[in-house]
Amino acid sequence: MNAFYDSPLVKKIFKSASVRSRMAASHLGIILSGFVEDLHARGYTSGGVRHHVLVVEHFGRWLKRRGVPPCRLSTLHVPEFLSSHLPRCHCPLPAPKVREDCRAALRRFVEFLRSRNGIKECAAQTVPQAPRDRLIAAYDRHLERVCGLSAEVRRRRRLCARQFLDWRFSRGALRLNQLQAKQVRRLVLWRARQLGPTGIRALVVSLRSFLRFLEFSGRLRPGLAGLVPQPVAPLPPPPPKILEPKQWRKFLNSFPQSTPKGQRDYAIMLCLAQLALRSQEVVGLTLDDVDWRALTMRLSQTKQQRQRLLPLPGSVAKALLSYLKHGRPSTTDSRAFFVHHLPPVGQPLTAQTVRVLVRRAFARCGISASGSYILRHTWATWAHRRGAGLKLIADLLGHRSLGSTTRYAHVNLEELRQAALPWPKIKP
Ligand SMILES: [Zn+2]
Repeated sequence: MNAFYDSPLVKKIFKSASVRSRMAASHLGIILSGFVEDLHARGYTSGGVRHHVLVVEHFGRWLKRRGVPPCRLSTLHVPEFLSSHLPRCHCPLPAPKVREDCRAALRRFVEFLRSRNGIKECAAQTVPQAPRDRLIAAYDRHLERVCGLSAEVRRRRRLCARQFLDWRFSRGALRLNQLQAKQVRRLVLWRARQLGPTGIRALVVSLRSFLRFLEFSGRLRPGLAGLVPQPVAPLPPPPPKILEPKQWRKFLNSFPQSTPKGQRDYAIMLCLAQLALRSQEVVGLTLDDVDWRALTMRLSQTKQQRQRLLPLPGSVAKALLSYLKHGRPSTTDSRAFFVHHLPPVGQPLTAQTVRVLVRRAFARCGISASGSYILRHTWATWAHRRGAGLKLIADLLGHRSLGSTTRYAHVNLEELRQAALPWPKIKP
């Protein structure tokens, strides 16, 4: 038996001796006790640890079948396991099979192995990829280098492209030249029935982008991208919903500043509302992005990947500093500004976490709103009401064209008409 079977910590988490001996004897059993200790030290609950170990056991079973000994494990095996084994997995339970769960657990496992130099690093380019993965990877490079899109936008475009290919070709070969306009049309109309106006617009934009890439790279005869239908007339975006001052105060006061997590959330809300950041930009902030002397904040992970420098209002600077001094876990070595206070403690937050925080606070305060973008809208509308010019607002919001910004002026149209302010031209 190995350290896993005898470890007191493992015994506490895995009460059954037969389960412990099965895991100890498994393909990666020799590394498991260290992994359990690492997870425990990071504050994972027993349930969380059990789940991670089950995923690694499953991964190990697949490696064994492939004849890969633990010493030859490389970073390439993980994506291969996720994309080629999981969809066809017939392993007996309790092997976890949900792709997202397995991906998260194996990411943790790889980080653990890295910390002990226990895994070979391989650049993703050297993998013998399936044609579909190669195509998606080429598309992603195109989106990054030619279109300059951010990681988050690219992720959504890749997802749409993959769904399109899966829908049209299932698991068969990619006969791109057999693609026909009527098939594209059928897909869009069918999906449109399940989507709202925003979803439809996103689908059409993504699909056109992918088809244009196929044409551009000579994989598809030109002309198809222009034939993607727009199922409903593109509606002008509605005037954004905003919070009134009283609601905003109530919302902000719902974050208790007496706890570390409350301080973090309070600072995050100020970033969303007073700097009008996107959730993605908030979680992309690092400790190096704030210049305390000049009172500025640099945003590098923006939607269009352009850096923006923002002035830091006193209230926001105070909240950020107070979080750094009294709230942020001191044990983390992450450079991310905002990190988890619950397991995985010290890891950077995701944009999804921020959105959930906002949604819960809206619910607590009885405000019928859901998206964190409402805080952005509120800021922009107030700024405009106070007389800030649209160009200035566009700069702060990080909009590329004033067209997106004029939405915030809709609510103020009457005031504006009376004041006869100059109106910016909307780019076609
Ligand atoms: Zn399996």
